[in-house]
Amino acid sequence: MKITDIACHVLVADDVDPGLTSSAQDSLLVVVTTDEGLEGYGESDLNPWIGRACIEASGTHTMGLGMAELLKGKDPRNVEALWDHVYTMTAMNGRRGALIHALGAVEMALRDLAGKIAGEPLWKLLGEPRPTPLVPYASLQPAGSSFEAYRDALCESAENAKKLGFKAVKAECTMAGPYAHDGMNESYDRHTEVVAAVRRTLGPDMTLMVDVQYLWRDAETAWSVLRDWEEFDLYFVETPLWPDFLDEHARLAAWAPFRIASGEWLSTRWEFEDLIERGRIGVVQPDVGRVGGVGEARAVCEMAAERNLPVVPHCWKTGVSLSATAHLAFATPGIAFVEFLPPQLCIEKLRRELATEDLVLENGEILPPTRPGLGVEINWDAVRAYGRP
Ligand SMILES: [Mg+2]
Repeated sequence: MKITDIACHVLVADDVDPGLTSSAQDSLLVVVTTDEGLEGYGESDLNPWIGRACIEASGTHTMGLGMAELLKGKDPRNVEALWDHVYTMTAMNGRRGALIHALGAVEMALRDLAGKIAGEPLWKLLGEPRPTPLVPYASLQPAGSSFEAYRDALCESAENAKKLGFKAVKAECTMAGPYAHDGMNESYDRHTEVVAAVRRTLGPDMTLMVDVQYLWRDAETAWSVLRDWEEFDLYFVETPLWPDFLDEHARLAAWAPFRIASGEWLSTRWEFEDLIERGRIGVVQPDVGRVGGVGEARAVCEMAAERNLPVVPHCWKTGVSLSATAHLAFATPGIAFVEFLPPQLCIEKLRRELATEDLVLENGEILPPTRPGLGVEINWDAVRAYGRP
């Protein structure tokens, strides 16, 4: 069996607003085709034009070869060997960042193919099944641009998640800083008020995580706010600090009574090694596409397990990435929660329309998927509607 084609679809929602903080307004969809007519689907969370260039660019010398050129004609079945070959032979094009994020989409498509070739859902090929149910958390969606509208939208979203049977939620609480919602610039006290309001809405029993999206640059300032958050019984606070400031992470982690979570932007296990060892984080958050694919995410999960750290993968994309994340979790006991929002609750068009996943939410848990590979069906009308040259 041979790889005959690697097609890269640049998808951008027709209502895209570059001022919004949601990266689910676009997608890089990769389709790997074989000479036997099988197709594997993969996706990654990066600017899709940049991702496509990383895959399609021709090589110019032995350590800067072209990704698609390296893979065409190869047998798709030994995914780890192919990943290593591409990683090595494209090293001077980028051993980190965009090139690895794009490689993650290709690797995901190869994993989908592997499952389809075996006639098994991907999770069954990845190892022993997890012994405990897979619990998803709902990401609460903010709205508006005033403090009151933002707070109330999160509380309403928390009510909806509760009604749907979710056992855990994550509230974005970012009304200032580089990731501020809709240009907001509210005081830190108001951030505390939002977390308090969401906790009141949920009651004491549901798990609550909070994502402040790189709000602070140093541990002292972060701690001046976060020391008041102990009473909210948080499972973690996500990305309180800029990801390059590893020593600040370690200082904050030493003070905080709850876990510090981070890792959504990182590529490769080696970046995670730094974040874990030097940054002393408490929850590890690989994004399956961005980190370099299912295999690289597994390596990160193993690294976390050796240190008894829970993994809560990042995923804010379509059913393709959500499925890859869920399959990984069904074979990885250390994954404590997965990010999962049913399409009907999402405002992002690509999440709603691009792919139908084989994931059923029942009593606050996700049931193991049964279709071969990722179990994803692509809506080709959406690919045509949102495709860009
Ligand atoms: Mg986040």
